[in-house]
Amino acid sequence: MLRAAGRREPQPAQGIRRAGLSDKDGQLSVASPSLRRVGNLNMAQPSGPAAGIPAPRSTGPGETGPAATVAIESGLGGTGLGGTGPVETGPGETAPGDTAAAETSASLSLSLSPSRAGDFLTCPLLYRFRVIDRLPEPPSSAAARGTLVHAVLERLFDEPAASRTPETARAMLAPQWERLIADEPELAGLFSDDGERNAWLAEASDMVDRYFTLEDPTRLEPKHREHAVAAVLESGLLLRGYIDRLDVRADGEIRIVDYKTGTAPREEFEARALFQMKFYAVVLWLTQQRVPKLLQLMYLGNGEIVRYAPDESDLRATVRKIDALWRAIERARSTGDWRPRPSRLCAWCAHQAICPAFGGTPPPLPESARRPEVAPPADATVPTGT
Ligand code: SF4
Repeated sequence: MLRAAGRREPQPAQGIRRAGLSDKDGQLSVASPSLRRVGNLNMAQPSGPAAGIPAPRSTGPGETGPAATVAIESGLGGTGLGGTGPVETGPGETAPGDTAAAETSASLSLSLSPSRAGDFLTCPLLYRFRVIDRLPEPPSSAAARGTLVHAVLERLFDEPAASRTPETARAMLAPQWERLIADEPELAGLFSDDGERNAWLAEASDMVDRYFTLEDPTRLEPKHREHAVAAVLESGLLLRGYIDRLDVRADGEIRIVDYKTGTAPREEFEARALFQMKFYAVVLWLTQQRVPKLLQLMYLGNGEIVRYAPDESDLRATVRKIDALWRAIERARSTGDWRPRPSRLCAWCAHQAICPAFGGTPPPLPESARRPEVAPPADATVPTGT
């Protein structure tokens, strides 16, 4: 099922819509979606040329590859470059490990992840609290649920294809929760009693069940799960992040898949989520010299899929947007002007007590906050002939 952005249709078990991110060069605002018709990239295995999409477009004579001087890291593993864990960008869904406190100081001055970019777009002061001050944030049940569901869906693909059933996935919830508690014992304090915890687990179970209404994992063999990726722009900015799932078809076509445990945003807000996906698409484009065929957001809160097919102009515009965003961050860093930007998302912010928008006073800026601490990783860049 494919439906046009701008129109909402009743959502049966599987809802798919397409959307876009309109973009103005150098502007930081995320505008209303542009429209592009997309198809479903069939990643069922085995796959081949008959899967219903055109052959990949190769770069011809006189054309350039990725606009930026790029780099070249992919599959960094769990600790490479101080990256964060799986992220959720919806209100209250930041994963427990997805705070600046989880990033190393060496990674902060010249690197950007989609979640931190989203923080700055949401509120520069929130970015400061997370990246500059590195203030701790208490765990939340919504974030923990997101981490748990991500863990189950990641490990589901460890099972033989025929065993990837709702029953198998549901049976993974309790042991994965125990594993998460072992890693982060403070999560155990999220619930006051077993009843509260069981109700929370039931919600996670509903999300896992909903996943199976959106696709059939017995027909998929992901290339990567929880895949660490990074690339360096010509500006020296290191882009990094973790992709929930990467599907690569036999002809090399790439689909980036991201699981969201919230509900799909209203269409006027979905550009923000697509920005995260385009960020990942830029990294893969730069490292693999191929524009990903499809970006797929799977909203397990309401059983809806948003799909978007980017092209090179999209990704060039995203590079310009990221560079402009980084310049704004650097400007705030050099001036110390990290303004609060109150919005409905303040309801989920852990720092209201020290936010001027709520009558609070931020702590003094750390001494090191106004200058970069590390040099760009020059040896990680290579020219592309652009
Ligand atoms: S409470 Fe709102 S305005 Fe203040 S730091 Fe948090 S997100 Fe920004």
